[in-house]
Amino acid sequence: MSHEDNHDRAADSNAPAKSCHPTPMLDELESGPWPSFISGLKRLRDADDKPYAPMMNDLLGQLEHSYENRLGYWKGGTVSVFGYGGGVIPRFSEVADKFPESKEFHTLRVQPPAGYHYTTDLLRQLCDIWEKYGSGLIALHGQSGDIMFQGCSTENVQKAFDEFNEIGFDLGGAGPALRTSMSCVGHARCEKSCYDEVKAHRSVINEFLDEMHRPALPYKFKFKFSGCGNDCVNAIHRADFAVIGTWRDDMKVDQEEVKKYVAKAGRKYTIDHVIAMCPTRALSLNDDDTLEVDNKSCVRCMHCLNVMTKALSPGDDKGASILVGGKRALKIGDMMGTMIIPFIKLQTDEDHQALVEFARRLIDFFADNALEHERIGETMDRIGLPAFLEAIGVDPDPNMVNHPRTSCYVRTDDFTDEAEKYFERKAREAGLNIAAD
Ligand code: SF4
Repeated sequence: MSHEDNHDRAADSNAPAKSCHPTPMLDELESGPWPSFISGLKRLRDADDKPYAPMMNDLLGQLEHSYENRLGYWKGGTVSVFGYGGGVIPRFSEVADKFPESKEFHTLRVQPPAGYHYTTDLLRQLCDIWEKYGSGLIALHGQSGDIMFQGCSTENVQKAFDEFNEIGFDLGGAGPALRTSMSCVGHARCEKSCYDEVKAHRSVINEFLDEMHRPALPYKFKFKFSGCGNDCVNAIHRADFAVIGTWRDDMKVDQEEVKKYVAKAGRKYTIDHVIAMCPTRALSLNDDDTLEVDNKSCVRCMHCLNVMTKALSPGDDKGASILVGGKRALKIGDMMGTMIIPFIKLQTDEDHQALVEFARRLIDFFADNALEHERIGETMDRIGLPAFLEAIGVDPDPNMVNHPRTSCYVRTDDFTDEAEKYFERKAREAGLNIAAD
C-alpha cells in the first residue's frame, strides 16, 4: 500500500478516529505510572491529517488481536534496496485480510552518526522523510545503535532509503554480517574520554562497510567504542570487539578539590561513599583531607572519578583496551568480552591504522573459523584461548585477565621464562601492544 493510497484514505471523511479498532487489552497498558508505547502508537493513529494514520490504526488492531489469541502474526521475507543484502527487517502480516493497511510493516535500520551527534535540523529532516514514506514511528536507538525506522510498505522502502542517503545516512547491518556500530558521546562532551571514539568508530566501520551491506560472515559481528571504563555503550557485554578507553600512568588528583569535596560532603560520607567503595582498596584519606591513590592497585573501575568529578581525572598516558567475545545469550549464555589487547595508543593516524589492521585479522579469523550461527566469543570458548591467541598472532600477556587482580588466564608454571619474554617484548614495543608477527 503506497503512502499516496494511505493519504487518500486519511483524507476520506471516514477519519481514523471514528473507525478505530477497539483495543481494551492495549488500553490497560496505558494505566499505571509509566509512559506507555500504546499511547505513542495511538498518537500516530489519531494524527488524522497524516498518511500513516490508517496504517497505525490497523497495527493497533493487529496487536490487540495478538494479545487476544496470544500469537504473533508477523512473518519475515526478503525486502532490500538496490545493491544491498541487508539493513531492512521485513515484516509481513499473516492477518492482512483483517488489517490490510498494516499488511507490510518493514523496519529500516539506519546507521547513526558516530557519537550520536545530531543537529536538530537533521533530526527534523529524518522525521519529515519518515512521515512521508513510513509510519512516523522511530526508535532512537536499537541495541546495535541503529535508528530504527519502523513501519514501511515494500514499495516505499527504496524511496525512503534514497532520501536518507541524500542527506548522508546509510543503512546498517542485519543478518549474518557486520552490524551497525556505536560510540559514546565521547571527548566532545565528556572529560573522562581517553581516546577519539568518533575517529576510531569511523576508521573501523568505513573499512568494513562491505561486510555490513553484503552479509557473508558466519554470524553477526559488532564493534562498539566506549571512551572510558564507564562503558556508556555497553561494549563489554554487547560487542564482539569492544574498544574501551583507559590510561596506564597515574590518575590525576587535584588535592585542593579533594579538600573542598571533603569539606562539603564530610569525612564520614567521603569514607563511606568513595574510599570504602573502591573495589581494590586503592584509596585512603589522610588526616589533612588529602587523598592517596595506590595506582598499581587501581583497576580503572571509574567509581571514584565519577563521584569526585572535579578532584580526579584520568592520567595523561591514555589509550584503550580491546576485549573480544562479549555477547548476549546464545549457545553458551551471556559472556563478557575477554581482555585481548590490554593497552593500545589511539592518537596518530598510524595508531588508528593498527587498530583497523587488528580488526581485519579478527574478522578474517571469524569468517574462516566460526561455525554457522556462532559468535566469536563462542568460537574462542570452543577452541580455547591459547589456540585463539596463536591464530590471531597475539602473545599472551599477564595483563590478560578474566577478573581484575584475581585470575590471569596466562599459565604461570614457567613464570620466569614467560616473564623474561614479556619484558623483552615490552622493551621492543613502543607504545603499541599489538603483536604483529
Ligand atoms: Fe578504586 Fe575504581 Fe577509583 Fe581505581 S577508579 S581507585 S579501582 S574506585
